[in-house]
Amino acid sequence: MRTEFSADQLARPEIAEMEAILRKCVHCGFCLTSCPTYAETGDERDSPRGRIYLIKDMIEIGTAPSKGAASHVDRCLGCLACQTACPSGVDYERYIDIGRAHLEVVHPRRPGDKLLRWLLSAVLPHARRAGLFFALGRMARPFIGLLGGRLAGMAARIPAATARGKIYDRKHTFKPDGNRRLRVVLALGCVQQALRPAINDASVRILRRLGAEVVIAGDGAGCCGALDHHIGKDAKARKFARANMAAWAGCEAELPFDYIVTNAAGCGTQIKGYERLLGGIDAQAASMAARARDITEVLAELGLPAQSAKRLPRVIYHDACSLMHGQGITSEPRQLLVDAGFTLQEIPGKHFCCGSAGSYNLMQPEMADKLLARRMQSIGDAVAGFEDQCVIATGNIGCMEQLASATDIPVVHTAELLDWATGGPPPLGLEEAS
Ligand code: SF4
Ligand code: SF4
Repeated sequence: MRTEFSADQLARPEIAEMEAILRKCVHCGFCLTSCPTYAETGDERDSPRGRIYLIKDMIEIGTAPSKGAASHVDRCLGCLACQTACPSGVDYERYIDIGRAHLEVVHPRRPGDKLLRWLLSAVLPHARRAGLFFALGRMARPFIGLLGGRLAGMAARIPAATARGKIYDRKHTFKPDGNRRLRVVLALGCVQQALRPAINDASVRILRRLGAEVVIAGDGAGCCGALDHHIGKDAKARKFARANMAAWAGCEAELPFDYIVTNAAGCGTQIKGYERLLGGIDAQAASMAARARDITEVLAELGLPAQSAKRLPRVIYHDACSLMHGQGITSEPRQLLVDAGFTLQEIPGKHFCCGSAGSYNLMQPEMADKLLARRMQSIGDAVAGFEDQCVIATGNIGCMEQLASATDIPVVHTAELLDWATGGPPPLGLEEAS
């Protein structure tokens, strides 16, 4: 693609990087059919190729973009289905990051938008604040009609109930059951701890059962930075990354660890990208990023023990975009579920986002609802007649909450199912099945 960046612009590393990415795009449009927002609107400006042009133009001109152009970029889910589909290897992930960071600086937002973005950035990355926020949101439910449009939408999306479990905020080491085969740090997540702490409990149990020593870093470890990164607040995302790396380095000082395990797919993609987030020249970030693993990668390496003959439900496995497109992980969770004794039910359109996409469903509720309806339609069609024998499993808390808001089928984390099948308690919603 031809560009017209000035010499001054090209002297900035991110613009030079952007130009290199643009040179790979051959306008072929193969990415269009993979894009959920284009499928919904049919507007090329809501497609990957359209957004590539819009971002290029707004940065070349250097002034604030029109409201319309910014809204098409804001509507991008960051699902990266287009990156998987692109035959030319266009690095859309980095490209949209640069575009969002640019918008954050130059685009004047309406007061309501600013407030929402501030709120998301100030509250959600902190587990206890997020827990309080969700509790207040639930209390506000009866008064939804009195709240403004966006706030009402947000309150409506707050889960009606959360599972019980610990919030891990102190340093702790869980010894493995039997011989130590691996030593891992568990990245705890932020929103996930507030919404479903049982996922971390299940993760600790199954990792220990399979021979991993599990270290909780405490001391400053927290949000991976993805929530801020996805809304263009890169300086804050870098701060979270540095705090996590300092906490993990503290664990390493006691005894080297093998992996940093994530059980929220969005966090995994973010931590695997720490080196790039910090400019590509940070040796500590490179070392940490290289050791980041989704929990299903680590469980696949450890191998599941032989299973007892339990009657297990059929599993509809939902690929979280950040796991499928962001990390290229599709076979490990499926194989582990089969190894654990579950029968898998595949659903069509699996490359399509459910509309959760981090905080996207709070900021773009209309599009998020349309994508959710599309996803639920394909699930409903696939399991019609035996819904009551199914469970939906996925590897990301955002997808879990999004899907659970639209179905009575229990929605659980893959690690919770694997823990249950190998001796742990049943996940919330599956108590009767056990
Ligand atoms: S598929 Fe790749 S090369 Fe083709 S238009 Fe999309 S981004 Fe460009
Ligand atoms: S990241 Fe997803 S929503 Fe955004 S352009 Fe690519 S496919 Fe479309």
